[in-house]
Amino acid sequence: MLYQKYLKTMKTCPFCTLEKNEILKQNKYAILTLAKAPYTKDHLLVVSKKHVVKFNSLTQEQKDAFEKLICYGLKKLHKKYANVSVLYREGNKKEVGKSIDHIHYHLIPDMQIGSRDINWKKRKIYSDKEYVQRVRELKKLI
Ligand SMILES: [Zn+2]
Repeated sequence: MLYQKYLKTMKTCPFCTLEKNEILKQNKYAILTLAKAPYTKDHLLVVSKKHVVKFNSLTQEQKDAFEKLICYGLKKLHKKYANVSVLYREGNKKEVGKSIDHIHYHLIPDMQIGSRDINWKKRKIYSDKEYVQRVRELKKLI
């Protein structure tokens, strides 16, 4: 079944309904599991045990629990893959292809996005002037 079709059949949050046999490792607050809709083979996910939608709503203890499973997953994947990318997702915005609002980290072996932007176009380098302007704009946000 294709991912988009799966999303239409989904009635509950798939991360809140993980079965015991789908859990690779867990701790008090987070679960390491295999992605059901993998970007690449051995694509892992670290999800919170509770349905949480914003990372900053987690306590430091919960954030640490995430970090421990991310490090554990990376360590295991690096036995087989030289390159593993970590991608964090939160929020729910269908316009950008985001469909599950339960916070989660992707641990993706051999992900090849280095030369592409999010629209899969060739990435550009800012000119020095553009770069300074963008930093100035972001200072208003940060
Ligand atoms: Zn959930």
